[in-house]
Parts: sequence; structure tokens; C-alpha cells
Amino acid sequence: MEEYVTDAVVLTKEPTGEYDTRYVLFTERFGKIAAKAKSSRRITSKLAGHLEPGTLAKVRFIDKGSAQVVDALKSSRRDISPEDLKLLSDLLPDMQVDVELWSDLARQAFSWNSVLRTLGWDPRGAHCEICGRKAAWFFVSRQEFLCDSCVSKMGKSKLSYIRTAPSVIPAKAGIQEARDKA
Ligand SMILES: [Zn+2]
Repeated sequence: MEEYVTDAVVLTKEPTGEYDTRYVLFTERFGKIAAKAKSSRRITSKLAGHLEPGTLAKVRFIDKGSAQVVDALKSSRRDISPEDLKLLSDLLPDMQVDVELWSDLARQAFSWNSVLRTLGWDPRGAHCEICGRKAAWFFVSRQEFLCDSCVSKMGKSKLSYIRTAPSVIPAKAGIQEARDKA
């Protein structure tokens, strides 16, 4: 049976079946993959501590129709919040190798603006999909940019939006501008 070894950032983990764990990994060699670990919830398991979300680890897995982790060795922890890791897991395409994104997630300080730019959604100069104003949010599940005012009308669930620009305060700025002109 063929074995694969790759560095990976652990995005999410969830229990599945009686003892198994399902991981979503962003790997250097294969892009985003889902991989199962058998019995990893048993106390005796060696894998668990090496595969917490946010961990950068060397992962060995076999392909049994789906990927199955057989060994993992933690090398460091990335400073990415669990919420951001979950959003990455939702947003990244399956099995798409991306050297630049790998460098973003495994080596650079985490920044959504940089990740979105790498993925082809450049927040600089982005406009709201609904009204065309300057965008301040990226809506992950719909993969589109929105402005403050449209997001506030949509009853936002924090989990599915990424802030890409600081809040604009047009009223205040407008007053200042008027004073400058006077
Ligand atoms: Zn808008």
C-alpha cells in the first residue's frame, strides 16, 4: 500500500464513528485533504497531541480509498484562531496544491487579506457585491465581498464573514471635509 508523507497545517478535527477522528489538513504536497485517524480518541493514542487544530506537523498517511493517518509529528504551532482555521477549512478547495498559500499558512504571520489575495480575491479595491460600495467583509459561504451596511442588514453570523477593511465612518469624515473646505 502506498504511503505518503507531507507537512501539513491541521485545520479542523472532529470525532467520527466510535473511536475515530476526522481531520481536515492543508498539506504542502496535496493541498487540502480530509484524513481519518483510527482510534485516535483512545488515551493510548500517540497521534492526538500532534494533530491539534493549528498545529504544523509532518503527517504520514496511506490511501485506502480515503486518506488514513498512520503517523504524525508536531513541529510547531501556528498562531491562527480556531474560528479562522474552520473558515479556512470551508473556503479552501480540495486537493489543490498551492505553494504560495502554503507559505502563507505555514511560515508567515496569519493574515486574511494575504490569504484572500493568494486565493484570487484581492480585498484591495474590492466592492460590495450588492450595492457597489467599498467592501469591508468577505462572505465565505458565498465567496463574495460585502460592505458594512449590507452585512449589517443580513443578520451576520460572525463565523462566516471575514473583516477585510477597517470600519468606515463616513458621517464624521464628511464633517471634517466640509470644515477643511470652509
Ligand atoms: Zn453593500
